[in-house]
Amino acid sequence: MRLETPYTNSELQQIRTALAEREARLTMMLATAKQEALQDLSMDAVGEVSHRHTHPADTGAMEYDQSLALDSLERINHQLSEVQAAKGRLAIGSFGTCEECEESVAMARLLKVPEARYCGPCQRALEESEKLHRHTSRLDAQVVESSDVVDKA
Ligand SMILES: [Zn+2]
Repeated sequence: MRLETPYTNSELQQIRTALAEREARLTMMLATAKQEALQDLSMDAVGEVSHRHTHPADTGAMEYDQSLALDSLERINHQLSEVQAAKGRLAIGSFGTCEECEESVAMARLLKVPEARYCGPCQRALEESEKLHRHTSRLDAQVVESSDVVDKA
């Protein structure tokens, strides 16, 4: 791994600012998403008691909302940890090197996605393969989640 950064000091300063802004925004989004997930969970608990057998379609819709809220919570958490990892890479000087092909990540891309681990082409290739993977693992996760809810109820 190269330990020298290909960016100028002023570019690094821009990246630092972009990372700090992103971290602040994600922290706020995380707080909002946590609240929403909690609200959905308590709504769902009420739904379980009063409507479970009479309105199965409503319960299904609520479970769907809840899994959406948990999904976004997980996604924001992940993005936040990526931002923190990027700050760490910036501190040790290994920032901006694509972890896949070891080329420098373009400055324009870093200003949009300062926590990017990969250059544009590598990111797209990875997302394509991840989509296939995520589709199957999400189906498994749903089965685990719904049996978990039944156990608690
Ligand atoms: Zn790459």
